[in-house]
Amino acid sequence: IARTVLLTFIGVLSFNLSYRLRSFDALEILASTDSLTGLKNRRYFFELANLEFERSQRYASKLCMVIADIDNFKHINDTFGHAQGDEALKLCADILTKGTRNIDIVCRLGGDEFAIILRNVDEVKAMELAEAHRVLLDGSSFVFAKQSYSIYGSFGVAMMDVANMTSGDVLANADIACHIAKRGGRNRSHLYEQSSDEKNIMGSELGWTKRLREAM
Ligand code: GH3
Ligand code: MG
Repeated sequence: IARTVLLTFIGVLSFNLSYRLRSFDALEILASTDSLTGLKNRRYFFELANLEFERSQRYASKLCMVIADIDNFKHINDTFGHAQGDEALKLCADILTKGTRNIDIVCRLGGDEFAIILRNVDEVKAMELAEAHRVLLDGSSFVFAKQSYSIYGSFGVAMMDVANMTSGDVLANADIACHIAKRGGRNRSHLYEQSSDEKNIMGSELGWTKRLREAM
């Protein structure tokens, strides 16, 4: 009897423990997921960006960050309503995920803004991948009640290849590149050029760049 009681006790204990571990996993997933799109969220992105940044510095591998902001998204909300705007955001998330290699990560930073971390790429490959995403988005349209609306986005691409950069710097550069793409007429990709003083040109216009860097 004592043996049966002991075995039952161990069984209950291990069931309880695995249940708790599963609950913990579920909570972790919930905390790192954007509830609308199912993509990884902003919180997870910042954690991952810092980790990937350290890894890439340690192994001297190339890392790239892309910020994609949907163009004229407010028009979708204005034309179809906010709920359909949400559907359009889900569509964008699906398209961006579809175009991503399985070693890369797409996150929703918030609103109509997405971030992609590209591992082991140089400038040429990074621009190629950003353009592939942009073209996929450009080729799609949001359809509601027989009305169709073209979806497209501006992509800012920034390399992490300077030893004394922080991950916040790289993100800020990607943000600047995205704004330059918007300024250039939208529906395009722009690679941040360290040498061309783009930070000074755009710096004063981008209040949140500083906040972003401070948050990381
Ligand atoms: P731009 O081409 O310059 O990017 O302009 P935009 O119209 O896309 O506007 P912007 O990127 O500045 O702002 C994004 C807008 O997306 C603001 C807000 O009205 C809308 N938005 C933000 N979050 C959500 C959301 O969760 N659901 C919906 N439906 N709309 C959102
Ligand atoms: Mg936008």
